[in-house]
Amino acid sequence: MSKLNREQRAAAEHRAGHLLILAGAGTGKTRTLVHRLASLLEEGVSANKLLAITFTNKAASELKERLEALVGSRADAVVCGTFHGTAARFLRQRASAIGWPSDFVIYDERDQRALVSGLLSPGDDVTPGALLKAMEKHRLNPEVALPSWDRSGLLAKENLPVYRSLLKAAGAVDFLGLIEGGAALAEGGFLPRFSEVLVDEFQDTDRLQHRWLEALAGFGARIVAVGDDDQSIYGWRGADVSGMLLFEKNYSGAKRVTLSKNYRSKQNILDAANRLIGKNKHRLGKELLGVKGAGDPLEVLAVADERAEGHALARQFQQWLDKGVEASELAVLARLNSQLRGLEVSLAAAGIPYSLVGGRALFETRESRDVCAFLRLWLKPQSDLDLLRIINRPTRGLGRGALEKIQQAAGARPLLPFLIAEGGNFSTRIRKGVASFVAIMEPPPANVREAIERVLYDAGYMEWVCSREPERADEREANLLSLLDSADQMAGPDGDLATFLERWSLAGGGDLERGAGLRLMTIHASKGLEFDAVFLPGWDEGLFPMPDSEGERFDQIEEERRLAYVALTRARNHCVISWARARMHHGRTLSGRASRFIGELAGDGVHGYAQHPFAGRQPAELPKPRLKAAQLPAFDELAQADYGDQQGGVFKPGDLVLHERFGRGVIQALRGSGSSAKVEIRFGDGSSRTIIASYLQPCDNEWDIA
Ligand code: ATP
Ligand code: MG
Repeated sequence: MSKLNREQRAAAEHRAGHLLILAGAGTGKTRTLVHRLASLLEEGVSANKLLAITFTNKAASELKERLEALVGSRADAVVCGTFHGTAARFLRQRASAIGWPSDFVIYDERDQRALVSGLLSPGDDVTPGALLKAMEKHRLNPEVALPSWDRSGLLAKENLPVYRSLLKAAGAVDFLGLIEGGAALAEGGFLPRFSEVLVDEFQDTDRLQHRWLEALAGFGARIVAVGDDDQSIYGWRGADVSGMLLFEKNYSGAKRVTLSKNYRSKQNILDAANRLIGKNKHRLGKELLGVKGAGDPLEVLAVADERAEGHALARQFQQWLDKGVEASELAVLARLNSQLRGLEVSLAAAGIPYSLVGGRALFETRESRDVCAFLRLWLKPQSDLDLLRIINRPTRGLGRGALEKIQQAAGARPLLPFLIAEGGNFSTRIRKGVASFVAIMEPPPANVREAIERVLYDAGYMEWVCSREPERADEREANLLSLLDSADQMAGPDGDLATFLERWSLAGGGDLERGAGLRLMTIHASKGLEFDAVFLPGWDEGLFPMPDSEGERFDQIEEERRLAYVALTRARNHCVISWARARMHHGRTLSGRASRFIGELAGDGVHGYAQHPFAGRQPAELPKPRLKAAQLPAFDELAQADYGDQQGGVFKPGDLVLHERFGRGVIQALRGSGSSAKVEIRFGDGSSRTIIASYLQPCDNEWDIA
């Protein structure tokens, strides 16, 4: 208890009835929860009477570890898990009590989609995904009346009984079904009698989960809920923050404790987070007070495009690493998973090891490994293992039987040289397959880009891999295109295969211990975690906040803002935000405006920088918050007035500039604006050229033009 402050101790020692610990980010909620569990065990409460629920498996195992560190093996019998995990566990033990088979299988989203696609007819005009989403909504809030124009809602309601019977017939449960089952067990009194149930990240629980907790309380459990209304970020998945706001009403006699001191972050970061979240209207309202001093300024970096963002990010991490910060204390937190791919390539190119949380690193995906096998085979034709992996990808009629024959015929010789030299004495089918494979392999490509293009397009690998699993086609295609992009960044100037494969093998933390390297993840996945330094890419209007494509969530912008707040408050000491003047997103170019959130968090202790290809960072004004969101500054306005960098617009005829290759020159004329702005320059050697403005640096020295 000596590790807790007064408020935290009060929360850990409270024993009379239910308890709500409501406090901002980094105020020690999770720490208090762990100490509370420990003190209950100290007092002799038996471990199997305690149930601790958190949001992710990772958080649950961390909780258990921290508890073990405090009380040792006495922690073993405490049930720690997620709602889904604990529900599954109890259902396995007591399924029959509610008429379920105990050997049920759990259906994930892909299984669910396959199941409901059979329920839709072509005229329905609703995708399986939309139908599932609507069903989920209906299951969470069955009493909500559906307007006649809510096509997917009505279809969902109509089809739900059929869907349930299909699941039942298959002996299957979906994720929400686990919670429904858990709630049914609790309501029927079929669960162990817990003396206390502790729930971390309570702001993100949904109605069914609340029902479950209420049932447990009905059988005598004390409910201890821990959360922060400002960090509710799963409304899109049915989480219902009102459960937190109504806690004292739902659990009679409940006490509320608030924690006020933030022990995590430097004050500059907290001030920015406070300013930002202060813009939300639907909140209880609290300020984060730090204890760690001002710290470095928070940095907002304007970059030219997503590629420049990747370079800036790699450079920034290198700096932090050089300063001696542990790699595992560094994180990239992105709004979307898809943003991470390009950043992976930049990190790999810079040789900085990373690990991807909640997904597979680009270089470890199945499709990447296939492409890698082709490349390795070009580099080392004797590598039979690689040949066997890809000779039938895409399908060439060379199944296992055919391969056995080929291996037999080749004897001790390596396969590829054998096939190229002899073709072999095989059946027509095999010979055809071999010929089409050899046609791809021969002659070897001149560089990496050509090699990857040959695999993806000439060999038809891209089409094949996308058509095999249509639901994941987009993801696969994006991965393969990122690989192609990595060719330029990782292979060196000659596009050398060996260099590329060398960098590849070091990328993605493949050679590291699990969990080593800096972390790449979505903001959603970072909830509850903390890092010494975080990089937050993609704070562009149109990306973050994410526009609400369906226009149905009234508080969507506030949830986006809470997400931004979660992101900022993960950082202990350093935080860098970036936005791009031009960014491709889902196949179109974004507006090139800084996120409104940047304007909202701007203030003392937040510094703006414009990134320049040669000169690194140059101080710049931050975009100012506007009164109305609709009046966001346009790109050109920012480029000229706020950021004052060389992206176009700021140059005027007569300015002296420096170009890396052509040297000094004088601007003659300007053309266009934005990131594609071009300038016409007369250089010192007398030549005139038109050059993209962002490749120029202003030049202050007085000098003579020959
Ligand atoms: P989040 O809202 O992000 O989940 P939290 O409220 O759960 O945050 P914790 O993760 O428990 O906060 O604590 C944040 C940091 O502050 C941790 O590094 C923790 O060790 C530290 N901390 C918490 N309480 C104290 C204290 N009384 N003295 C010193 N450090 C503390
Ligand atoms: Mg926490």
